[in-house]
Amino acid sequence: MVRIGVVGAGVVGLTTATFLQEALPEASVVILADRFLQDTVSDGAAGIFRPGLQFQGPTPEITRKWLKDSYTYYKNILDSDKAAEAGVKSLSGYALSSKHPNIVKNSLLEPLVDEFRPCTKAELELHNMKYGSFVTTLLTECRRYQPYLTNIFKRRGGRIIQRKITSFEELADDFDIVCNCSGIGAKELCGDMTVTPIRGQVFKVRAPWIKNFFYTDYDTYILPGFDLITVGGTRQFDSYNDELCPHDAAAIWERAIAILPSLKEGEIVRQWVGLRPYRPMVRVEKEIMTFNNGKKLKVVHNYGHGGYGVMSSPGTSMHAVALVKELLQPKSLL
Ligand SMILES: Cc1cc2nc3c(=O)[nH]c(=O)nc-3n(C[C@H](O)[C@H](O)[C@H](O)COP(=O)(O)OP(=O)(O)OC[C@H]3O[C@@H](n4cnc5c(N)ncnc54)[C@H](O)[C@@H]3O)c2cc1C
Repeated sequence: MVRIGVVGAGVVGLTTATFLQEALPEASVVILADRFLQDTVSDGAAGIFRPGLQFQGPTPEITRKWLKDSYTYYKNILDSDKAAEAGVKSLSGYALSSKHPNIVKNSLLEPLVDEFRPCTKAELELHNMKYGSFVTTLLTECRRYQPYLTNIFKRRGGRIIQRKITSFEELADDFDIVCNCSGIGAKELCGDMTVTPIRGQVFKVRAPWIKNFFYTDYDTYILPGFDLITVGGTRQFDSYNDELCPHDAAAIWERAIAILPSLKEGEIVRQWVGLRPYRPMVRVEKEIMTFNNGKKLKVVHNYGHGGYGVMSSPGTSMHAVALVKELLQPKSLL
């Protein structure tokens, strides 16, 4: 039996692990991670499907394929009876700017979604903005989606172990192949200095009367999930500060209220900080590692999704599973 280890239990690790079980039903799949569910970065993400143009795979074609595969995957969940349990919903809203027309365009998203149109004059006047698009896209809420994937993984016989991995060498005896889905942890685990945190701070607010999403200048966003609305945010490059900052909170709240004054009536349920695992290019690659004692280990990397890991993890995980299958071919034996 093929033994596969998956390092990481965020949205990328859980997605990869369940896709591996589907593609290789005879394999034993084990997840190893030091943080789970509400302790992961994935848990606090709003989960909107709206790639930034800086989201990059190795080629523009691969980037588009990851996004198309991901959108189709979530759309299929949306159209099934599992949508609410999995935390997947359809969401419409506005990208608005008073500064630049490019802010409201999105060449990666436009070809995927059913609705992407310029705002009408009345819509722009209502929000006192110069440029705008109205978009219908998807949102996946990890507070539902990660437990959903965890249940699928366990039901199929997957094992979960809480453990911090300090070197891939530790895993060489126990696994034939390892998928590395360690997010920001890859900086240390792989010595990958191109991995950089981008700090994000948000409010989670109960305001059920707000149905549409809003994105505006200065990283201000209001993104309604199932139960709570994510109100953000910040994008602080190379900041490791995982504490709440009262100055950021004040600025975020002031900007959000200016867009949607009725938010003031909402109940602030909690605040949250997460470090987006940014890498200039998301890494989905295979590698055969050789350690000092001569031992070898086949590794498939799947990390560095930055601010887009929830939306893009199905596509990158399908790619990672294809690389695992390639490494399991007899010709690639160590
Ligand atoms: C404020 C904010 C808003 C966001 N909004 C969105 C959004 O709207 N849409 C979107 O798509 N994305 C969004 N993101 C980005 C998204 O959260 C990330 O891209 C995604 O969560 C990355 O998932 P991951 O599984 O790689 O990382 P994580 O969720 O951080 O999981 C990493 C896992 O690896 C494990 N690990 C790491 N190192 C080790 C080690 N050495 N040993 C053992 N285990 C290890 C950890 O314990 C954890 O289980 C947002 C992020 C932030 C901060």
